[in-house]
Amino acid sequence: MRVAFVTGASRGIGRATALRLARDGWAVGVNYLRGEEPAMDVVKTIEEMGGSALAVRADVADARAIGRAVEEVAETLGRISGVVCNAGIYMRRAFHEMTLEDWERTIDVNLTGAFNTVMATIPHLRRGGGSVVFVSSQLAFRGSSSSVAYSASKAGILGLMRGLVLQESHHGIRFNAVAPGTIDTDMISGYSEERRRARAREVPLGRIGRPEEVASVIAFLLSDESSYINGAVIDVNGGLYMR
Ligand code: NAP
Repeated sequence: MRVAFVTGASRGIGRATALRLARDGWAVGVNYLRGEEPAMDVVKTIEEMGGSALAVRADVADARAIGRAVEEVAETLGRISGVVCNAGIYMRRAFHEMTLEDWERTIDVNLTGAFNTVMATIPHLRRGGGSVVFVSSQLAFRGSSSSVAYSASKAGILGLMRGLVLQESHHGIRFNAVAPGTIDTDMISGYSEERRRARAREVPLGRIGRPEEVASVIAFLLSDESSYINGAVIDVNGGLYMR
């Protein structure tokens, strides 16, 4: 059984990805930070499907903690060959209200967290190859009206991915990213009904996306079906910004 490690898999896109990967036959390391109960629920759901999973608590911003989580998953489930750098936060702050702490926490979780996750898993990936998928955002390409740090972190992830393609692909490791538009998860739970409708109207498909619609693209990029795709960024946005 192939083994995947998914960060931020207790909720939203990460949860949908863990469940999708399990359905595709992967054993899954389910990383979480605060959501122990929802992470355990992901594991239980996977086990009920006949799959294998292990929940591991770690702050992705903490290199040692994520290193320990990765080793625990590898010892329990086997060599990790699929990695999904998904954990992320969005702190809504106008620039004039933003503090250095807000900036640093966003960069630490969204960008350094992805770096830490690759650093911790790369010894496993180098032994036999694998695939890494980064969860970026449409806000990597556009300015954000509510967090400059978020846009910077998501653009930074693409720089990290491109460097890894050049430096690590010879080990048989592929690195790709997805750039979701607005997806219906807790990350947008603060939106009013009116704002949700306005967001949906901006999208040519006329609706906000579902976490499962991002998970299926991540699963494709982790699978051998995408064996010659390396360094790609796939938009999962319903056609946003075509106008
Ligand atoms: P979400 O529902 O808020 O879930 C975030 C997940 O990240 C949770 O499982 C959370 O775990 C985990 N997490 C947060 N900080 C963490 C940390 N320091 N260490 C480990 N795990 C941490 O968000 P989502 O919408 O699914 O977002 C997933 C990814 O997609 C993020 O990178 C986000 O930027 C990106 N994205 C989302 C959208 C969107 O519209 N939803 C659009 C573009 C990109 P706990 O709850 O256990 O703490």
